[in-house]
Amino acid sequence: MNYMSKSIEEIHEALKSGEVTSEELIKESLQKSYKLQDECNAFVTIIDDAKATKVTDELLSGIPYGVKDNYSTKGILSTGSSNTLKDYVPFFTATAIKNLESKGAVAVNKTVLDEFGMGGTGTTGHTGVVKNPWDHLRMCAGSSSGSAAAVAAGVYPYATGSDTGDSIRKPAAYCGIVGYKPTYGMISRYGLFPFASSLDHCGALTRTVKDAAIVVDGMKGIDKNDMTSFDSKDMHLYDSIDGNVTGKKLCYIKELCDINMYPNADDELKAHLENFMSTIEKCKSLGMDVEEVSVDETLLKASPSVYVVISCAEATSNMSNLTGFIFGPRSEGDKWDLEMKNYRTKGFSPLIKRRFVIGSYVLQSQNKDRYFHNAQRVRRLLVDKWNELFEKYDAVILPVGSGPAKKLEGSKDALDKNTAALEDHLQIGNFGGFPSITIPNGFVSNLPVGVNITGKCYDDINVLNIAYALESSMDYKNQIAKEAK
Ligand code: GLN
Repeated sequence: MNYMSKSIEEIHEALKSGEVTSEELIKESLQKSYKLQDECNAFVTIIDDAKATKVTDELLSGIPYGVKDNYSTKGILSTGSSNTLKDYVPFFTATAIKNLESKGAVAVNKTVLDEFGMGGTGTTGHTGVVKNPWDHLRMCAGSSSGSAAAVAAGVYPYATGSDTGDSIRKPAAYCGIVGYKPTYGMISRYGLFPFASSLDHCGALTRTVKDAAIVVDGMKGIDKNDMTSFDSKDMHLYDSIDGNVTGKKLCYIKELCDINMYPNADDELKAHLENFMSTIEKCKSLGMDVEEVSVDETLLKASPSVYVVISCAEATSNMSNLTGFIFGPRSEGDKWDLEMKNYRTKGFSPLIKRRFVIGSYVLQSQNKDRYFHNAQRVRRLLVDKWNELFEKYDAVILPVGSGPAKKLEGSKDALDKNTAALEDHLQIGNFGGFPSITIPNGFVSNLPVGVNITGKCYDDINVLNIAYALESSMDYKNQIAKEAK
């Protein structure tokens, strides 16, 4: 049986016509989960006793999906891929997952992430490295690594993700699939383990743009438990996609996309940027106007530092509740403060500890203005710049990363200074809370690469529509990773 490599619309049709049952789909998805677990280590938990649901008119009913392991799921292990929560079983379910459940969606596994979402390699989770299903020597990127691997391998048509700097959109690009984070607040964050609250977004990894719209339609909604959520009941994402983009105006940024900006560019970067320019030509042939714009290089290059300061500060503050007393395994020690110290020292990986050191430093009273407040000011400058672009253009279109998935061997969290702005510009979508989607746009070194479209807040339908039109004009829709076929 091979229903799990189809789109949600196709699977729904098959369920409605009685060609297949929800039980059969779950069986297929679980089998594929075990196979992918052996090959790529994508899961923290496989939910063997996942129950079939009634097939209704809801597109998601009866269909299996994956849940990133930083979403709380009642009665099911939810670790955030951290040793500090390695046996934590929540007593409630995150709102986004509850919303999916209410539509009849069936969770079949919990997917591996970089510990608490802090990372971009898929190598820091407590259950080990996640491999890319297209090439097992390459990374999936992170932090939604397991979700991306599983969707790319055809375990199911979608999985949930979270995105604080690029964690849905970068793994989507590396795995040749679609990654969509809607406007900040469209999906409630209640029950998502917080990393950096002002930047955290819930979202979806899928293989088609329409599926991304269907899934976010299923996850979204105002929630009294998350006062940053907003009412979007009049926004029907899936129903509003019509593919009509004639006259839309897009821009891309010269300082990020021009190969001459990178004197030491390797072949993969060159091929990636050439491929991006051919995608721009595709946009033009669809009737869109695309212009090159210039943005102050100093401002662009400041983005990664702004991200580090703000995200580490917020993470340090958010995660001070991880003491080993409320959740997680209790540590030994004859005094409470020693117990807590042992728990945190043993539980967190070195990467996280490094981030807590940075966070504590920038929040100290004598440093706060110089680092934390200044980072907020530069964040504002970047968001203002993007909003200025949105006054003239319907969306900004940019390449994702500096090429295809990087090799796992020798991977590190530090970035090459020359390409840092190109690797990290997706963070600006988090700074502003902008709707932002990555879709596959080709291959470099036989590996998938992606392109990103970002629009102004609450303009999700426009962003999805542009992505849909572009997807329809290329050959990379609903692709399944070759090695995993
Ligand atoms: N890679 C970025 C980081 O390490 C983004 C992570 C994310 O979006 N959760 O912080």
